Amino acid sequence: MTIAPQGQKISDLLVAGPTLSFEFFPPKTDEAERQLEKAIHELAPLRPSFVSVTYGAGGSTRDRTRDIVIEVNRSQPFPAMPHLTCSGHTRAQITELLDEYAAAGIHNILALAGDPPADGSEPGGDFTYATELVEMVRDHPGDFAIGVAAHPELHPRSDGDREADRRWLAAKLALADFAITQFFYEVDDYQRMIEELAVLGSSTPVLPGIMPPGAASLAGLKRMANMNGSVIPAALLERLEASADDADALRAIGVEVATDLSGRLLDAGAPGLHLYALNRSESVLRIVDGLGLRPTG
Ligand code: FAD
Repeated sequence: MTIAPQGQKISDLLVAGPTLSFEFFPPKTDEAERQLEKAIHELAPLRPSFVSVTYGAGGSTRDRTRDIVIEVNRSQPFPAMPHLTCSGHTRAQITELLDEYAAAGIHNILALAGDPPADGSEPGGDFTYATELVEMVRDHPGDFAIGVAAHPELHPRSDGDREADRRWLAAKLALADFAITQFFYEVDDYQRMIEELAVLGSSTPVLPGIMPPGAASLAGLKRMANMNGSVIPAALLERLEASADDADALRAIGVEVATDLSGRLLDAGAPGLHLYALNRSESVLRIVDGLGLRPTG
């Protein structure tokens, strides 16, 4: 796995070899903040290539995402990448944030559209699609490597129109440096997306996003899958439901499934692994150990 000197661009790391990365979210309480600090402390010895921090829809975690990214980037030997959504934002708000990131030595941005408000109201702002944000980040003098989102099982707003979904994705990837996927559980869905992108002339690296199914509660996993258009295969769901009240058993199933999926994705040529850590270390440590990816020496 490729290990980064701090501040390095993810595009350069991907050229050097497969990457290992972890995703966190900004905590809402003091206790959750201590949990995140503990997770970062316990995961740092795995020497991730980079970590990323999510951004609340509409900018609800704007300052917290920024502060965590800048602090991790400053204090750890690996780069931290902020997620940034453009829905509901003005160009001036995005410029201000990009200026702050550039000044803090951040060289990677995950550029996303974000979801419109759940109540159906108009988000407002200057953006509709992620490509508009990608173009704006590219024009910023901060010299950012730009990642985007990909959905192996199609974006939920694509309404099953596979051809259009892949065309928009290929167009977005042509402007970006790499993508990270929504979580999925079938290697075939990832491979099929990569093949469809290749037919459209796209070879931009797409990192698979791995969600260990027992890392969140079963209800939480189902909610996320429903929102993101990720299918939990029937046999896996049955296993998880049989252990729904036993957190340790759920976690064990999650580690087993995520380790197997990750190994098969690497064998299939995936350019790295992006693990949704959900601010906890235990499942990720076991998956990385199971794959034999813990650095030695
Ligand atoms: P887009 O690429 O803009 O695509 C949205 C839809 O529009 C797709 O159906 C696409 O096919 C279609 N489309 C694209 N361009 C056009 C066009 N020109 N004309 C017509 N249709 C078009 N959300 C958050 O709020 N915070 C986060 O931190 C966050 N992190 C994420 C991390 C990853 C790895 C992933 C995969 C998703 C993340 N999301 C996050 C969710 C993301 O914001 C949502 O999936 C959102 O609904 C779409 O974002 P996008 O960047 O994929 O949008």
